[in-house]
Amino acid sequence: MTHIVQNRIGGALRDASDGATFEQRNPADRAQVVSVAPESTADDVADAVAAATDAAAAWKRTTPTQRAEILTKAGQALAARASQIAAEMTAEMGKPLADTTIEANRTPKNLALYAGEAYRLTGSTFPSDDTPLVYSVLDPVGVVGVITPWNFPLNLASRKVGPALAAGNTVVYKPSPFSPLMGNRLAEAFEEAGLPAGVLNVVHGLAAGAHLVNDARVGAVTFTGSNATGRKIHAAMSIGRRLQLELGGKNPVLVLADADLDAAAEIVARSSFGGLAGQACTGAGRVLVHESLHDALLERVVAKAGALVLGPGDRAGVTMGPLIADSARDVVHAAVEQAVAEGAVIVCGGAPSDGELAGGSFYPPTVLTGVQPGSALSRDEVFGPVIGFETFTDLDEAIVSANAVEYGLAAAVCTKDIATAQRCAAEIQAGMVRINRPTVGAAFNAPFGGVKQSGTGTHKEQLGPTVMDFYTVSRTVWLGS
Ligand code: NAD
Repeated sequence: MTHIVQNRIGGALRDASDGATFEQRNPADRAQVVSVAPESTADDVADAVAAATDAAAAWKRTTPTQRAEILTKAGQALAARASQIAAEMTAEMGKPLADTTIEANRTPKNLALYAGEAYRLTGSTFPSDDTPLVYSVLDPVGVVGVITPWNFPLNLASRKVGPALAAGNTVVYKPSPFSPLMGNRLAEAFEEAGLPAGVLNVVHGLAAGAHLVNDARVGAVTFTGSNATGRKIHAAMSIGRRLQLELGGKNPVLVLADADLDAAAEIVARSSFGGLAGQACTGAGRVLVHESLHDALLERVVAKAGALVLGPGDRAGVTMGPLIADSARDVVHAAVEQAVAEGAVIVCGGAPSDGELAGGSFYPPTVLTGVQPGSALSRDEVFGPVIGFETFTDLDEAIVSANAVEYGLAAAVCTKDIATAQRCAAEIQAGMVRINRPTVGAAFNAPFGGVKQSGTGTHKEQLGPTVMDFYTVSRTVWLGS
């Protein structure tokens, strides 16, 4: 079934003003067009920003209860349709149904959490020599631009749209061109919940993100996506406009000499492959293994890779889906070929899937060993199911190697020794260090995000107790008599 997706601007459903569209095909079956969406013009995006600007004053005046009720009802509307949305998400971006079901059920919980944030916006009072009362209050920023990738199309968007609205901002949301239908499902839930027209506007398109970022009326831009795009957005922003970038990673799993081998193999496989076929920002691309465990770990990880069932995500028994596009598959394969040219050896996988999977963008779980420190595979993000093994002989070397990349998103450490675990947690340069846990996953009440080139370092504001900081401005008032 093909879904016709439209922009939502000031409460009206609109095509692109010049009628242009783009299509998203099922990554598991290129013959199936899942969604057709507007390729928005600069004028369309400007109209959406104007609608958000016009709606800002009235939305800012709403009470916490009014905002919280709308977020709660939007979550309920999504939850009521979770199985339909999960099936659509699988068709649109490829993740197996088990994964999309988790996401469809988790997103309403995010909205419930942010509904509560509407009540938790606080200020402070300050002793003053001047007047009896100096206090600070939190205001909304104004119009927030939300730009998201496709790999968690509902969940990531809810983590931005939810807190933005709870704080009293209006929003122009630009979903990924690979998941326009999911963008509209989120907006429909808010509409059903009674969100006033113009408070949440949605514009689609390949160029719409750049138009949004270039509009100075957008006071804050929150972006999750690739470093290449993040750099462009960073360059386009100016003083006085707020920016939050959540970018890529080259996340290592460190397997130390005392690690439980079976548990470590499971952690590597879950971090690197999974239903998303390695297309998670926190997915692991490197295993740094003590040389004494290399062969035994490699054997176990290859066995786990072999046990994965590749196929369309709506087929029973499938545990790993396709890559998002043929172009993505080509990029992944080129990275594998370059690794081999730089001395690595393919142990399993290493070529696009053919046979009955040739009609989709499938790439098998791929394990390489003999990856050279400093080589491209050891250094650069590969957004796919590719893991490279590197060995070390002592912990100092392992930590230096873990840190020898420009990224700093997530890391996993497999060890039974608590002191070693604590040293790794302190010295590995990553926003999230997970001891005996996979690199992937998030807790919505704990901070999430990266350091170094993995983001703007505002990860304390993406999830967790300080999530509202990005969406609010503190104003200090001196109350004289
Ligand atoms: P992408 O950068 O290609 O696209 C992300 C979004 O940016 C899309 O909506 C796209 O249309 C838009 N965009 C493209 N060019 C733009 C421009 N010039 N100005 C404004 N917007 C523009 O990323 P992707 O392929 O969708 O996602 C994969 C990347 O996202 C990976 O690098 C992954 O690591 C990263 N990611 C990070 C996190 C995190 O929380 N750190 C989470 C998920 C994904």
